[in-house]
Order: sequence, then C-alpha cells, then structure tokens
Amino acid sequence: MRRVEDLGPGGKAVLLRADLNVPLDGARITDDGRIRASLPTIGKLTARGARVIVCAHLGRPKGEDYAQRAAGGPSLRPVAARLGELLGQPVAFADDVAGSSAAAVAAGLADGEVALLENVRFEPAETSKDDGQRAELARRLAALAELYVGDGFGAMHRKHASVYDVPRLLPHAAGDLVAAEISVLRQLTTEPPRPYVVVLGGAKPSDKLAVIGNLLTRADRLLIGGGMAYTFLAAQGHQVGGSLLEADQIPQVSAVLAEAARAGVEVVLPSDHIVAGRLAADAPAETVAEVDIPAGKLGLDIGPATRAEFARKLTDARTVFWNGPPGVFEYPAFADGTRAVAEAITKVEGLTVVGGGDSAAAVRLLGIPESAFTHISTGGGASLEYLEGRELPGLTALADGR
Ligand code: ADP
Ligand code: MG
Repeated sequence: MRRVEDLGPGGKAVLLRADLNVPLDGARITDDGRIRASLPTIGKLTARGARVIVCAHLGRPKGEDYAQRAAGGPSLRPVAARLGELLGQPVAFADDVAGSSAAAVAAGLADGEVALLENVRFEPAETSKDDGQRAELARRLAALAELYVGDGFGAMHRKHASVYDVPRLLPHAAGDLVAAEISVLRQLTTEPPRPYVVVLGGAKPSDKLAVIGNLLTRADRLLIGGGMAYTFLAAQGHQVGGSLLEADQIPQVSAVLAEAARAGVEVVLPSDHIVAGRLAADAPAETVAEVDIPAGKLGLDIGPATRAEFARKLTDARTVFWNGPPGVFEYPAFADGTRAVAEAITKVEGLTVVGGGDSAAAVRLLGIPESAFTHISTGGGASLEYLEGRELPGLTALADGR
C-alpha cells in the first residue's frame, strides 16, 4: 500500500477521506479524539504543500434526498471550526458535499491550505448499494482533486462511495492513521505475546458474536461484562432480571461457550453486579453479591468481586484487546467497572489495544491517560471486522495499485 510520502502531494489538490465522526451534544463536540487522530496526516500533507480537501461523515442523516438530509443535519460545520483550532490554521468550509460550494472552496485553496466538505452522508448515494449511484457521486468527488488519501479508518469496513469508489478514480495512498491502526491490529492477529486476554463488553452480543468466534481460536482468556454478559449468563441458566437480554441469541451464545470449552479458552463472566430499577443517571445503585439478579432489577455494571477477578485475570497478560465498556460508564454510579477494567489494562506490561468508539470515549471521559495504552483504535466496527478476518473494502481499494 502506497503512503502519503510516495504520492508527491506538493502543489496538488488532495481529497482526504478522514473519520471525523465525533459524538455531539447539539452542536457541541463532546469528544474530539477522532479529529485529533486525523491531524498527523493532514499535517503531513500541508507541510508538503498539498491543498487538502477533507471529506468525512457525521452521524446518521435521515431523509429521502439531499435537501431533507441537509435540513435535518448534523452539519460538519462545528467540526471544521474545531479542526481549525487544533491545526492552528483556518479550515474553509463547503456548504455542500460535491456541488458548486465544494468546487468553489476547492478552487480557492492555496498550497498548504485545508478545506472541509459538508457531511458526505447528506448524499444518499454515499451509502447506496447501487454501484452506479455510488460511482456518480465518486466521480463528482474525484473531480475536486488530483490525488486521494484514505485515512478514515472508522469507515474502512463500509463499501461507501468516498471510501471504496473514489480511490479507484485517483492515484491514492493510505494515511498515517490507517497505517498505524493496521500495524497494531496485525500484531493481534499474528502471534500475539501470551497470555492474550480479550475483554468484551458493550451493549449486545449479536454485534460481536462473529469476532468472538474468531477470537476463540486466538485468545487465551475472554472476560465478558457489560450488557452482552446477561445473554451469556442466561444461556448458563441464570436469572438476569430486567437486564439487557437478547433471548434469540442464546443458542449462538451457548455454541460460543461450548466452543471455548473445547478450545481451552477460559471464559470469565460476572459473578456479581451493580443493579438499579431503571436505566437512568439518578437511579439508586445497589450491589447484588451473587450471579442471579432479582426480577425487576437491571444489571448496569460489574460488581466489586467481578472487578477484582477481571483485574486478577489481566495481571499476567502480555497482550490485551478491550472492546466494549463493562458497564453504563456514561452514568457515574455505573462507571466503576469500566474504570477498574481500564486501570487494570494500563498496568499490563505488553501490547494493550482499546477498540470501539464508546470504549475509547470512556477512557477519555474517565480521565485515564491515552498514553497508558499501546493503542486506542478510532474504529469500532472496522477494528472488529479486521479481527474477524474480514476484508475491509476501504483497505482493498487502497491496496489496488494505481
Ligand atoms: P464500543 O463502541 O466500545 O464497541 P458498544 O457500542 O458495544 O461499545 O457499547 C457501548 C454501550 O454499552 C455504552 O453506551 C454502555 O452504556 C452500554 N452498556 C454497557 N454495559 C451495559 C449494561 N449492563 N446494560 C446496558 N448497556 C450497557
Ligand atoms: Mg459503540
């Protein structure tokens, strides 16, 4: 795969697909981690005198056509402002994705300057399953530039126009973020130092069963917390009260447990819980000191005994992959499990990788220094699909020589 340095971007217009999909509270950016992660490649391009036209998506715009989506938002405009602050130079903003505003803004850039296009998902063709529709948008985007750099790791698992189709139309290279992500994830799939411990949490097992299946052939130990743990506990015949449960996934989860036993992979599930009567910031938290949860109560975090057990199971690890918070960390009363897991991982001597948008946001929200981990991936779905062994369309497109 070609890199930015190989492209000779000086004096050229470069379309950079970045991942700027930050969490928003109204127009306020609550975590700018993904913007920061995009800076090295943008800086490398501007330092070489490229005219950088950044293309990115934000959230999930709804509506039949461009006009409806643009009216409903979210707009990338606040992201342009934050990107400018972090870069220390103004970022011009195009009011459309690949229309007259984009063309004017791109034409107005001088060497070393940066522009951001409006939310690419305002264009329904961006995510279309129809190759022709995507190709038409890709042609309009490609017309804005002479070169393409793919650096939006978080979107690399999507066969989208700006990710998959544009690199077929322009000489292209992989950005530094993508290169860094791949080099770390590759270490997890090729002879990771052992013991290799995987910590999984988050909302639903159905999101992650495929990666669990793949990890069973690689990891030595699986620590499972968070919302997904209750389907595992239910599969073992435990009472889970009103906790998050995907009853239809019980057969698959049972199969995973059986496969783990066969493969000699240790699976550690919660043995106690922090529960509440409802999922709310002000719901009074109680500890349930056993595996079974009473009716009417929701398990919202792992309990103290589970925290200690998870930490113990991490002490001798030489490789750790953590995806999915073990509790509802967004509310302080249910954040202790996530904090305990994060802190235990920071003490591990070895390769420690955090994957998953919410897990990465939790690390930052809890004030744990990012430098305490080997790598915090910007791509939740993308990193999981890579670890599943699936081909990422965005990477495939970048790898094609041209
Ligand atoms: P990631 O983005 O890191 O892959 P997920 O998106 O899978 O993680 O899950 C994150 C969400 O899971 C968080 O919003 C968190 O509140 C939620 N969660 C964690 N534990 C529970 C639980 N016990 N019950 C309900 N939701 C939970
Ligand atoms: Mg998530």
